[in-house]
Amino acid sequence: MKKTIGYAAHDYTSQLAPFSFERRNPLPTDIQIEILFCGVCHSDIHQVRNEWGNSTFPMVPGHEIVGKVIQVGSEVTNFKIGDNVGVGCMVGSCGVCPECQDNLEQYCNSTEFTYNSPDSHSGGTNYGGYSKQIVVNQNFALHISNKLDLAAAAPLLCAGITTYSPLKHWNVSKGDKVGIVGLGGLGHMAIKFAHAFGAHVVLFTTSPGKTEDAKKLGANEVVISKNPEEMAQHVASFDFILNTVAASHNLDAFTALLKRDGTLCLLGVPDQSHPSPAIGNLIFKRRSIAGSLIGGLKETQEMLDFCAEHKITSDIEIIPIQAINKAYDRILKSDVKYRFVIDLASLQDQ
Ligand code: NAP
Ligand code: ZN
Repeated sequence: MKKTIGYAAHDYTSQLAPFSFERRNPLPTDIQIEILFCGVCHSDIHQVRNEWGNSTFPMVPGHEIVGKVIQVGSEVTNFKIGDNVGVGCMVGSCGVCPECQDNLEQYCNSTEFTYNSPDSHSGGTNYGGYSKQIVVNQNFALHISNKLDLAAAAPLLCAGITTYSPLKHWNVSKGDKVGIVGLGGLGHMAIKFAHAFGAHVVLFTTSPGKTEDAKKLGANEVVISKNPEEMAQHVASFDFILNTVAASHNLDAFTALLKRDGTLCLLGVPDQSHPSPAIGNLIFKRRSIAGSLIGGLKETQEMLDFCAEHKITSDIEIIPIQAINKAYDRILKSDVKYRFVIDLASLQDQ
């Protein structure tokens, strides 16, 4: 076993603090990674605070991991020492079910998540990317182009693929009118991708102060979702709306904006579910409410390559790990432009 250090929460009320633990020695198909940067996802906060009711402690969060390969197992063919590498929300799956065979490992019944999830190797719990090192099977690691800034690429591993995947699945393309609800980590990536795919992009925000930023990110229009008059101007006009809000809210205001056969796709996972939608809003125009979970490994690599080609990364604020608890408070106040990324160089052996 290899000793490493990270930051962990020890229960759902405590602040994150330094934590020493061990990673397995690389198996023949594993790579060992020195973590350079890790993005801070709202899902980290939900889990640290046990808002999904499934948290195990101690918990080392972090699933937007970017670093360098520092060791490879004897059967590793896909990576070599020194490669730039990324790890997202998953580190394992069964590999044989229909979902895995369709490259949709996130929908496997045995997906092993990067943290707060049973570790199939040790029988313990997986620890995530707020740490100096990680050991992972090569099939769950991604190549990151030298063209991408590594810190700004880290959020692509969750916020990026989580928004890219549904936009692709629902065939968002030139001429479509697409709504993005919420301008945070996921929302700002969703605007960039929808814009890159040629859609007419409308941001729905509760924060009027984000209007100019949204336009710079690629939104054609910005609607303050708390203003019923502004909302009314868009009734029955959207092909697709992607909702990234991290809190429970009424969905009817958004389903009413869909065209016939339009889809409202939910990404946010609030601690309390949304109130039931008005059925009339759905049946009279055959509208759908759907959901989507991250994206598979193959599609994540496709997304990273698309980003390298189109020069897309996340807008980030780099923080030392000692600032993580303050960063959580700021995320909860929607005070982040638009993703915090931890620089792991700030984490020294204690
Ligand atoms: P974030 O950076 O905190 O952004 C969420 C945005 O939602 C905020 O910036 C804010 O945008 C809006 N918002 C927050 N509270 C609101 C409220 N009470 N009413 C209306 N709008 C509100 O969070 P994130 O990292 O993007 O994550 C968003 C959600 O997606 C979280 O629940 C997270 O767990 C989930 N998630 C899901 C997946 C998946 O696979 N489905 C993957 C990753 C994350 P405005 O200021 O513009 O209104
Ligand atoms: Zn995430």
